[in-house]
Amino acid sequence: MDRNALLNEVLTRSRPWDLLVIGGGATGVGCALDAATRGLDVLLLERNDLGSGTSARSTKLVHGGIRYLREGDLRLVREALYERGLLLANAPHIVAKRRFVVPCYSRWQQAFYGAGLKLYDALSRSLSFGRSSLISRDRTIELLPEVETEGLRGGIVYYDGQFDDSRLLIDMAVTAHRNGSRILNYACVLGLERSGGEWIVQYEDVLTGNRSETRARSVINACGAYVDPVRRMSDASATPVVTFARGTHLVLPRHFLSGEAALVIPRTRDGRVLFCIPWHDRLLVGTTDVLCGTAEEGDKPTDAEIDFLLETAGRSLQRQPRRDDVLSMFAGVRPLVSRGRVANTSKLSRSHELLIDARGLVTITGGKWTTYRRMAEEAVNAAVSGADIKAGPCATHTLRIDPPAAADGELLHADLPYTIGDIVRAVTSEMAVTLEDVLERRLRCVHLDARTSLDAAPRVSRIMREQLGISDEQIDLRGFTEKVEALNLPAAGDRG
Ligand SMILES: Cc1cc2nc3c(=O)[nH]c(=O)nc-3n(C[C@H](O)[C@H](O)[C@H](O)COP(=O)(O)OP(=O)(O)OC[C@H]3O[C@@H](n4cnc5c(N)ncnc54)[C@H](O)[C@@H]3O)c2cc1C
Repeated sequence: MDRNALLNEVLTRSRPWDLLVIGGGATGVGCALDAATRGLDVLLLERNDLGSGTSARSTKLVHGGIRYLREGDLRLVREALYERGLLLANAPHIVAKRRFVVPCYSRWQQAFYGAGLKLYDALSRSLSFGRSSLISRDRTIELLPEVETEGLRGGIVYYDGQFDDSRLLIDMAVTAHRNGSRILNYACVLGLERSGGEWIVQYEDVLTGNRSETRARSVINACGAYVDPVRRMSDASATPVVTFARGTHLVLPRHFLSGEAALVIPRTRDGRVLFCIPWHDRLLVGTTDVLCGTAEEGDKPTDAEIDFLLETAGRSLQRQPRRDDVLSMFAGVRPLVSRGRVANTSKLSRSHELLIDARGLVTITGGKWTTYRRMAEEAVNAAVSGADIKAGPCATHTLRIDPPAAADGELLHADLPYTIGDIVRAVTSEMAVTLEDVLERRLRCVHLDARTSLDAAPRVSRIMREQLGISDEQIDLRGFTEKVEALNLPAAGDRG
């Protein structure tokens, strides 16, 4: 994917696209992939970078959601377990099975959660990742060597999937591109008009500030937490449907939990499930679920959330993690579909919502990363039938997502698992434009170790300048440093 060539193609295009997708997260890229493999002529516009919304900041689980089981949402769990199975089959290079252990401190807990997880097994039917089982105290300690042992009675083992969210997203975008879709980052949609049975879509090339327009027969709004402003571009009177909930994760050194199994805390003091999951040889701890007034508030972890995560994880581990131990942190906003006032976001459904307005704008939001394929299938079906476009049947049930092209060479940094070749690939064929695109989303450096990423940034910046043939001023090293310090590193403090 070469951004300049793609931009040029979009600017010089005179025919309307069959479909224009707004938003380059899991849902939008999923739609572009689905549409291209049905033979549609499709363009996707993303106002920032691919995955810069929620899709790079998930818990990285490909799962049915044990929490929704407790809430009795069996339809959602069954649907997600089915998609979990498809995703493992279609992207085996990046989705893997992971063993999860729920440590139990009473026999009652073991019986209660054990029964729930048997139901989880049953709902996955033939796409099971492995059967759950009750395990002894000794086996629990063997699988979770650093678990809190005081009062420990035993545990439950079950299996789910794990992946690398923004890396899968880029691989999906490259696969969609190979299948003919056009995907452009840093292209913000500013307005939508209907004329002569077509959409006129106004957009801005965010890198130059140049504005232009392009035409499409159908439009899908896949803007996640930002679907409401786009819905109002089509219908100024559209009432908002999205409520925002921030979810924060901390990344800790692996020695806090050294085994291969993930630890599940089935009920935190605010009634949530908390995971401590090995990820790229670090430990990912999350997540919170905090109502926020605007989507923009969804990016920044608060002190209270950091303390809550440290304290809650510490109660289940032998060593209490402290702020100084945090290698990185990140927060993302959940777009939860609601109509009316909301007091407790964890009670809102995680199911997705498809809306079609009177002018034919298709909006798809909510849901989960795990169910992106199904969401895309439903949205493209709606767009195709609404605009009466000829399209083949959905082909994504068995469509393989391409792994990234192999990249080798010298290591970027002794403490980061990436090479110079990875950076070159990111800027030459994966449309990475900024330091953040490379270090946060094509590679996961910022989320693995924020301080080390700041150390590596000047070197990455030099490689980007050479590869892109641009000047010093075009790489914003200072802006990158400020952003990482604000969003990915907790302020020092002695709490927690
Ligand atoms: C904390 C947290 C943990 C989660 N964990 C999991 C998990 O473990 N497993 C799982 O399955 N799901 C998980 N989810 C859910 C999952 O991450 C989301 O459902 C999914 O990422 C949503 O993708 P999306 O494409 O709809 O939205 P986004 O990724 O937010 O994408 C929307 C895009 O639209 C763009 N956009 C907005 N306005 C415009 C415009 N005017 N023009 C162009 N582009 C625009 C934005 O820049 C953004 O990139 C989690 C969510 C959160 C918040």
